[in-house]
Amino acid sequence: MFNFKKKFGQNFLTDKNLLNAIVKDGEINKDDFVIEIGAGAGALTEVLSSNADRVVAFEIDSELKETLIALNLKNVTFRFEDFMKVNLEEFEEPFKVVANLPYYITTPIIFKLLEESDKMLSLTVMIQKEVAERMVADPSGDYGVLSVMLAFYGEAKITRIVKRNMFYPEPNVDSAVVTLKVEKKYDIDKKDFYNFVKTAFSMRRKTLLNNLSSKYPKEKLKEVFNEEFLKRRAESLTIDEFVDAYKKLNEK
Ligand code: SAH
Repeated sequence: MFNFKKKFGQNFLTDKNLLNAIVKDGEINKDDFVIEIGAGAGALTEVLSSNADRVVAFEIDSELKETLIALNLKNVTFRFEDFMKVNLEEFEEPFKVVANLPYYITTPIIFKLLEESDKMLSLTVMIQKEVAERMVADPSGDYGVLSVMLAFYGEAKITRIVKRNMFYPEPNVDSAVVTLKVEKKYDIDKKDFYNFVKTAFSMRRKTLLNNLSSKYPKEKLKEVFNEEFLKRRAESLTIDEFVDAYKKLNEK
């Protein structure tokens, strides 16, 4: 019997309709190269295998090795590694990501993919519902660094809500599938922009003037932006306003 490991975020899916639906949400077709993170017992990998050209599936738990190899999927390469330690530059071909992510590292995995590779075409991931809601939020309550960064990279959508009883073992929260089509609309340095956004949000209740002055001299802020703008809070800025503000600060 397989011992499910909580520390690896092992919550497996079995429902065929749901697995097919996830792959459909990812718009996976016969000429796609797909990367999966967290193959588990391979339920999603099998569906990916029959819909894509080829798949590289990562799994940290080597106890799953026998099970996965026994599936005998010809166009799948299983890699028993910690995905967080993989150098994504080795993937030179464009790829799509489809995964039921381990929940303890959802955000780090998504940021790693976005920051370390410019070959990712799209991302389709099962994650906790509340994280999903933050990702796709517009300026309002749920809106934060995560939403702004997702909007920076492309268009994020929730394609379905998945109840906790669809997983084994059952987690404590419901889930959602989020898709992100990578668009690369903004031609600015992604790491610098990320730092800027984090600074703007550092104290949620404070104004932009307050937060930004921890990194930029007040005189400079007052020279570049008008008073009205500096009185606003980060949570009220759209992605275009963020990009615009970043550019203004870095131009002068
Ligand atoms: N895709 C399967 C399993 C999802 S559960 C299904 O849908 O049924 C998440 C899986 O990610 C688990 O099998 C867990 O062992 C694996 N995992 C956790 N951390 C990982 C990491 N850092 N790198 C690769 N895989 C990881």
